[in-house]
Amino acid sequence: MNAPILAINGLEIEIQKKTRPVSPVRGVSFSVGKGEAVCLVGESGSGKTVSALAVMGLLPHPPFRVKSGSIFFEGVELTSLRRREISRMRGRRMSMVFQEPMTALNPVFTIGYQIKEGIAAHERLSSGQLHGRALEMLGQVGMPEPEYGLKAYPHELSGGLRQRAMLAIALAARPVFLIADEPTTSLDVSLQARILKLLSNLRSERGLALLVITHNLGIVAQVAQRVVIMYAGKIVEDAPVLDIFDAPLHPYTRGLLESIPYSAGQGGVECSEKCRLRSIPGNIPPLDAIPRGCPFQDRCREAMDVCRTVDPVDINVGKSRIVACHLYGSL
Ligand code: SF4
Repeated sequence: MNAPILAINGLEIEIQKKTRPVSPVRGVSFSVGKGEAVCLVGESGSGKTVSALAVMGLLPHPPFRVKSGSIFFEGVELTSLRRREISRMRGRRMSMVFQEPMTALNPVFTIGYQIKEGIAAHERLSSGQLHGRALEMLGQVGMPEPEYGLKAYPHELSGGLRQRAMLAIALAARPVFLIADEPTTSLDVSLQARILKLLSNLRSERGLALLVITHNLGIVAQVAQRVVIMYAGKIVEDAPVLDIFDAPLHPYTRGLLESIPYSAGQGGVECSEKCRLRSIPGNIPPLDAIPRGCPFQDRCREAMDVCRTVDPVDINVGKSRIVACHLYGSL
C-alpha cells in the first residue's frame, strides 16, 4: 500500500449558526495514497465539498471552524497552519478544480494570464518560459487551439473548454495532488469521458494523486481505484472500487448502485431483466435534524431498533474495507 499523501483523521467541522452550531462533517477519516485515485461519493449535503475545502484551507472562517481532528498532507498537519502557509502549498503541491468553471475563473483576465499567474506564484520563470508552459498545459488538457485558448476570456469559451482551461490552471504548477469537485457536471457524455480519461492519464503517467468528488457512480467506475461513500457528514463505506461494484455492503451504497442505469462501458455491467432502477426513498436529513443513532435509519429498508439509538462505528471488513452499519456488527 502506498504511503498516504493525504490522511484525514476524525475531522469534525462546525458551522456557527444563530441558535446553535451544526456539523456538516462529523468525524471523517480517510486517506489518499500517492498516485491513487479515490472517489468521494454522496448526495448533495453529505459533506464532501466541505471536507475538500477544509483540505485546501478554503473554508471561510467564520462561519466554518475545524472543531477537531487532523488533516495530514505529505506529513504536514494542515489544520494548525496559518492561511499564508497553506496558500503556499496550494497550487504548488495541491490544487482543486471546482464544480462550476464560470464562477471559479476570473472573468476579467484571459485564460493565459490565469495559467501564468498560477505558475509565477511558485516558480521564477522568464515570460517566454511562462508562455511556453501555459501553451504546454493547454495542449495537455486537450484544448484544440492552445494559442487561441491562451488569449481567450472565460466567456469566449464553451463549457467544455472552460472546464479544460480550469484544469490547465489547476495543473500549471505541477501539483502532486488534485481535488476535482464534480469535474464534469456541466458537460455532455463524450466530453465527460475525455476529461475523465485525461485525469486517469495524468495519474498513471505523472503519478498525480486524485480525490474526485461526485454523486455519479458512472464516473466512479471510470476513474476510481478506491471509493469512499459519505452520508450526512460521516463515512459509511470505504472500499476498493471493485468491491463497491461487486458486493456493496452498506444499505446506502446498495441504494446508490440500484439507482443508476448501468450499461456496458459505464460500470462494465450489462443491464438485464433484474436490473430495475430504484431510487432511495426520502432525503438526506438537514444538518439541524440529524437523528440519534444511524443517520440513514429513516431511508433504510433494513433498519433495526438498535439503529435508532446507537451510532454505528467503523467496522473493518477484510484488509482494506470499512463499513459503518449495525448489520456487520458481529463480523
Ligand atoms: Fe440501515 Fe441500521 Fe445499517 Fe443504518 S445501521 S444502514 S439503519 S441497517
